[in-house]
Order: sequence, then C-alpha cells, then structure tokens
Amino acid sequence: MRFDLITIFPEFFGGPLDHGIIRRAREGGLIHVHVQDLREFTKDRHRTVDDRPFGGGEGMVLKPEPLFEAVESLLGHGVGDASKQNPQDPGTAVLLMSAAGKLFDQETARRLSQLQRILLICGRYEGVDERVAEHLATEEISIGNFVLSGGELPALLVMDAITRLLPGAVGNEASTQNESFSPRQEMLLNTGIRSKVSHESPVTSPMLLDFPHYTRPAEYRGWKVPEVLISGNHAEVAKWRQQKALEKTRRNRGDLLLRE
Ligand code: SAH
Repeated sequence: MRFDLITIFPEFFGGPLDHGIIRRAREGGLIHVHVQDLREFTKDRHRTVDDRPFGGGEGMVLKPEPLFEAVESLLGHGVGDASKQNPQDPGTAVLLMSAAGKLFDQETARRLSQLQRILLICGRYEGVDERVAEHLATEEISIGNFVLSGGELPALLVMDAITRLLPGAVGNEASTQNESFSPRQEMLLNTGIRSKVSHESPVTSPMLLDFPHYTRPAEYRGWKVPEVLISGNHAEVAKWRQQKALEKTRRNRGDLLLRE
C-alpha cells in the first residue's frame, strides 16, 4: 500500500511516521509513505497556495491549481477538465480531508485497506476550493463532528486506522478482528441482540466495543482485577468479556446497538 500525503506542512509528519505500527510497516515494506509539499506545485515567487474566497467572507482558501497538479504528478496522469474527466483507477483513492465530508469509521477503513494506493489531501485555512472535492477527490472524509485547523491530523488518523488492518501490520492478526467496531457475531450470541447481517448490507450488523483489559498487578491501590480473569476458567472468562463488552457498549455507545 502506498500513501501520499499532500500538505503545506511536510515536517508535521516526522514524528508520527516514526513510531510503532506505522514505523514497522514502513520498515517492513508493507506501506510506503510519501509526503508531498504542496508548495512544490506553485509557480510564483511567493509559492502561493491560497487565495481570498469568491463571494467574500473570512479567511483564505486553498487554490485548485497546486492541488490538481500535485495529484496528477503523483498519479502520473491527468484527471481531465470540465469537457472530459478521465476515468479513475479503481485501486486508487484520492481522499480530501474535510469537516464537511462523510464520517470515517472502521468499515471505511476496512474498505480502503483493500486498495493499492491512497492519496490524502490535507486542507488548511477556511478549506479547499470546492472543485477539488467535486472533480479531483474520489471521497471527502471527516474524522468527526468537530473542526480542526488542518487536515494533517485527520490524514494521519485515517492512515493509521488503515495500516493496522493490513495483514502483517499488527503482531497478532486476531487482535484486529476482535476489537471495537468489528462485527463480532460470536460475542453477540446469547445477548438478546439479533444479528442483522445480510448479504446486501454487511455493514448493518450491530457492533460491540472492546471488553475491558487488565494486567498486573492483580491489586493496585486497593482496586482488584475481577476474580474471574484470574480463575483460569476460559469459558467463564469469555462469558464475562462478552457481558462487559455489551455493558460498555450500552453505557458509552448505545447508538451502536440501535443500528438497523
Ligand atoms: N471551513 C471549514 C473548516 C476548515 S478547517 C468548515 O467549516 O467545514 C481546515 C482544514 O482542516 C479542512 O480543509 C480539512 O482539511 C481539515 N479538517 C478540519 N476538521 C476536520 C475534520 N473533522 N475531519 C477532517 N478534516 C478536517
């Protein structure tokens, strides 16, 4: 999988790319990450990437030309113009980070993890000329119902969620199948929640958050690890985890259980 991060702040990514799973995935050749300085695609002396908004209003907007030219240069082909838009490669996604985009979730991460190449466009200022969303990006993605000052953190977040789903990225394969937001049918058995999995829309199955984890010491400041986890009874442990996952989902994210 290849990622291209298009940004006006290339140095921003130094730290995050150099730690943990992302670092290992890069070193192991599972992912290749290219950070593209948007300003390389400007032509004026001041390397201008932004301009004032048509129609008036606050702030500045990222201009279309450097973004189109950066993406085209990275893809190695043009995307077309108003008279003719070139077809997209189905193995490649161009994601525009945008507070006004569709909400990113684990299902989206899973779908994107099947691709060969993902370009991520990081907005700044008041945002990005709308023609980028309409004619350059294949998807406009929001990481949540809040506004950040730039698309760099969202791009990293999306890249991280996708990378850890690539086979071999996380030490124990099972850990990405048995975590929050994975449809876990076996955990839903006997909970009274019926699975709504269907062939047309596999995304509609209810999801459970992760169960609580504990490690040593068995007692810390008087707070004890639940007895059952120390019992060695695997069936009881599994039942307890299922129950706790359900309780926690109900308490923190009741909406997940109500999804039709
Ligand atoms: N005026 C815009 C916000 C611009 S914030 C609005 O009201 O929707 C500047 C940039 O930060 C955006 O272009 C986008 O790239 C990024 N950004 C901010 N919040 C985001 C979010 N929730 N998800 C993804 N990207 C976001």
